[in-house]
Amino acid sequence: MRILLVEDEAKIAAFIKRALTEKRYKVDLASDGNQALIQAEIQPYDLIILDIVLPGRSGFNLCEQLRKKKISTPILLLSVKDSLHDKVKGLNLGADDYLTKPFEVEELLARVRALLRRGRNDKLPILKVADLCLNQVTQKVTRAGKPIKLTAREYALLRYLLIHAGEIVTRTMITEHVWGEDSAAFTNVIDVYINYIRKKIDRDFKHPLIHTIRFTGYILKEPDSA
Ligand code: CA
Repeated sequence: MRILLVEDEAKIAAFIKRALTEKRYKVDLASDGNQALIQAEIQPYDLIILDIVLPGRSGFNLCEQLRKKKISTPILLLSVKDSLHDKVKGLNLGADDYLTKPFEVEELLARVRALLRRGRNDKLPILKVADLCLNQVTQKVTRAGKPIKLTAREYALLRYLLIHAGEIVTRTMITEHVWGEDSAAFTNVIDVYINYIRKKIDRDFKHPLIHTIRFTGYILKEPDSA
C-alpha cells in the first residue's frame, strides 16, 4: 500500500511518516500543494493524506483538482480547523474523511486502514463475517441462516462494523459515519446501540463477533482470527 502524505510542517510529517512506515505502508512525502498534485498524477496511490493549509495550493484546492482530473484515490484531510464548515467543505470537494489535529496515532491508523479498505468492501452486495450476513440490496440480516430484525440505526451501525470487519473502529468514526455530521452522539449512545445489536446477533450464539477494544472502540471479526 502506497500513501502520499502532503504536509508542510516537518515535525508532523515525520511523526506521521514514522507511524505509517512502522505499519509497513510505503510513504511518499510532499511539502507543497503544487508538488503534491504532480506526484499524485504520476503515481497511482492507494491513499492521500492531505493537510489543508499548505504552501503552493491549499489542501481544499488540491482535493478539488484531483477529483476534477478523475483521480479517485481516497483522501484523508488533516487540519487544525475543527469547524463544521471546513469539514463539510472538505467532504463536498471530494475528500473521504477528515481528521482534526492534534490526533492520537491510533486514530490516524484506524482511519487509514478504514479508508484503504472501504473502497473494496462497501461495493459488495453481501457483507459477511463467519455466519453473519448482511445483504446491502435487500437490507436483510441473518446469522446462521436465522433472520435478524434491526432498526434503521442498528442496521447502519452493523453495516459500518461489517465494512470494516477485522479492524478497530473508534467511537469517533462511528459517531461521524453512522450518526452523521450534525449529531451529538455521545459515547454512551454508541455503547447502548452496540449492546442492542449484540443482543440480536451475538447473545444466542457460541462465538461472539463484536468485541470491545478498551478506551478505543469496537471490532467485528471472525471468531478464530487473532
Ligand atoms: Ca500546514
